[in-house]
Formats: sequence, structure tokens, C-alpha cells
Amino acid sequence: MSLSVELLSTGDELLTGQVTDTNSPWLMDRLWDAGVMVTRKTLVGDDRAVLEAVLRETTGRADLVVMSGGLGPTEDDLTAECVARVMGVPLELHAPSLAAIEERFKRFGRPMTPNNAKQARFPRGATVHPNRWGTAPGFSVQLGRARLTCLPGVPAEYRGLAGEVVLPWVVDRLGAAPATRVLKLVGVGESAADQAMRPVMDDPAWRGVRFGYRAHFPEVHLKWTVDPPDAEPRAAAIESAVRAIFGESVWGSGKEELAALVVDRLTARGQKVAVAESCTGGLLATLLTAVPGASAVLDLGVVAYANSVKVGVLGVPGPLLAAHGAVSEPVARAMAEGVRTAGDATWGIGITGVAGPGGGTPEKPVGTVHLALAGPAGTTAVARLYRWDRERVRLAAAFEALDLLRRALG
Ligand code: ATP
Ligand code: MG
Repeated sequence: MSLSVELLSTGDELLTGQVTDTNSPWLMDRLWDAGVMVTRKTLVGDDRAVLEAVLRETTGRADLVVMSGGLGPTEDDLTAECVARVMGVPLELHAPSLAAIEERFKRFGRPMTPNNAKQARFPRGATVHPNRWGTAPGFSVQLGRARLTCLPGVPAEYRGLAGEVVLPWVVDRLGAAPATRVLKLVGVGESAADQAMRPVMDDPAWRGVRFGYRAHFPEVHLKWTVDPPDAEPRAAAIESAVRAIFGESVWGSGKEELAALVVDRLTARGQKVAVAESCTGGLLATLLTAVPGASAVLDLGVVAYANSVKVGVLGVPGPLLAAHGAVSEPVARAMAEGVRTAGDATWGIGITGVAGPGGGTPEKPVGTVHLALAGPAGTTAVARLYRWDRERVRLAAAFEALDLLRRALG
């Protein structure tokens, strides 16, 4: 069965360019995974007349309307009031919600102002959705031909409630759920990935499967959604075919994060890594330290920008630097080995490159990066020539360094 879904986001800030509507794209992505493409999305300000008109229109067309924002305590939070007026019913106090809001204020030791009670008033007949992520509950009503679900605008609350209320409702209405898979690559460009995926995507056996890419620079995420019947086994068969194409380049799937995976594997082995970064300026250390528990595996991070630091702190031989230049494979290797020794770590990583926009030469153009990994069995190095701007060169280099270590950890 098909379902027509519209999204509606409200708030003056969305129309003045101060806030970008990130709630709708988030839900669109999940709905797409569930097998539904949203038919329309509307943005409206905090204006009663416009809101009521748009509520009438959308609920007159769609099977499901999901609205974001305007559930707060302030004057400009108009959602419940406008929905009630369009339905022709009064707002009624929902005692359990009021109790929950009072309890929340007590817990945070803040005085509750009278306007907060407003968040416990809903159109008569509404189903109230308790909000575990914030103060204002959401609610659903039947209006026109649609089910209308109203959620808070704060992204964490919107996502939490949408996941708890909207997605299960959609899956239930659709009957059997589609199956989705995401495989993650790094070090493979999107066009190269697309080229390599062609044999699978063009295979008549997979007609009707929705293949796509989720942009996640510098990673490429391959994604496919398979409708019933046999959604799960078919999605799994496609996964085998895709893994056979990309092999080792697939570092993970689903919600996995590369840095977290590397930290986990190091932790499991009781090993540590030390990093020496030139052009990435600490980005690799930042990716690692963003993972809870990184202190058990990250030993030392050195931002070795100046040659004197490469020599003095990391022990890169001066003559080597003079002979090959700072951006070179021998120097990347010496940085990796030097920081490994300095940190007393199992693994040492060295990164040196020309991030640009200046500093390029004919032999070492902007985007030239040398990565090296020193470990118990010796040192390996890879060279890259990235064709992006400074920020992307730095990001790609940091992720590929992580990936070198991931491959070594097996
Ligand atoms: P609250 O109870 O916090 O007032 P609310 O339901 O009234 O929630 P809004 O007042 O519309 O929500 O928005 C609260 C904040 O959430 C905004 O300041 C904005 O930063 C963020 N926000 C609102 N709508 C969106 C959206 N569509 N996408 C991303 N962020 C949003
Ligand atoms: Mg508000």
C-alpha cells in the first residue's frame, strides 16, 4: 500500500534564514528507508492565519502530516491552538502532562512559570505523546483525511519522538517493512563507487531495489532499500555482492563510526596509538578523542608543523628532511616511527602533505599527502593526491590515516 506523507515545519526563524530546517530532511531520510517518499514539505512562520490555512490544505490532501515546532511555552508557539481551531474543538488540560512538566522543573531545580502549563494543553481528543527528551509533549489528531502528528521543533526532541511515534505508525500502515542496508567506504570516490556498483544496480534480479549514496565526506555510504516480500534475504544477498566488489574497502555498516571502530579494536587488543600530524593539524587526534574511552588507546599526539619539531620532537633525521623535503614518504615514515617510539605505543601514524591553497610545486602539487603507519611488523606508507580544497584535503587525510590503522588491526 502507498501512503502520502507531507511535512510541515513552523517557526519565524526558519523563514528569516536564522535556522535551517534540519528536522524534515532527517525524517525524509528515515521515511525513505521505510519505503515512503514524502510528497511535499512546507515551511511557515508563526502566523495564525497562515498556519491554519496550511493545516487545512495539508490535512485535506495527505494520509499523514508531521508538523515540527510551535509547541513551546511562549506567545509565538501556536501549534496546539491553531490545530484546535481548525478542528473546531477547545484546548483541554492534560493532567498527566502537567504533572510530568512540573516534575521535570522540580528535578532541574528551576521554578516553573505559569506559561509552561500551556504545554500541557491539547486539542480535545488528541493522543498525547510524552517527551522523554524535553518539556513539551507531542500529540496526534485525526484532521481532514489525515493523521496529524505535531512534534517539538528542538531537533533532539523531534528525532526522539518521530522515532518513537511516527516511524512505527508508518511501518504499521505499510504492512511488511522494507529492509535497508548501509555499507561504508573510505578512500573510494563517489563516482568510482558508482562505477563499481553498476553490475549490482543493473542486475535484473534487483529490479525495484532503491540504491543510493549518502554523502558523508570523506566517506561514501552505499545504501539500498528492498521492499517486501523477502526484503531481508534479498537485502542480505545484495550485501554479499557489494562486499565482494569492494572487499577490504568496506570498513563498516549501519550506524558504525570509523574512529569508534578503531578505538574499539585497539581497546580489545590492549594496544595504543600515537599520532604525528603535519597538514591535518590535530584532526586525527580530534577524531580519536571524540570517542568515549579514547584515553585507553591514544598515547600521544604531536602537531609537527615546523621542520625543527619534526627533528627535535619526533627524531626525523635532518639530512632526510633536507634530501626529500617535509612532504615525502621517507619523512612520513620517520614521523610515524618517531612518534611511536616517543609515545611508547604499538602503532605510530605520520601524516604530512600540502593542504593548499598555496605551497604547491610541480612535483608536489596541492593535495599531495603522505600517510605512514609504523607497527610491530614494520612501517607501511601510502601516497595520495587529493583534488579538493584545504578543508577536504585535511579531512580526507585524517580519515584515511584512521583507515590505514583499521586495516592493520584487521
Ligand atoms: P520549545 O518547547 O523548545 O519551544 P517548540 O516546539 O516550540 O519547542 P520551536 O520553538 O519552534 O519549537 O523551536 C525551538 C528551537 O528548535 C529553535 O530555536 C530552533 O533552534 C530549533 N528548531 C526549530 N525548528 C527546527 C527545524 N525545523 N529544524 C531544525 N531546528 C529547529
Ligand atoms: Mg518554541
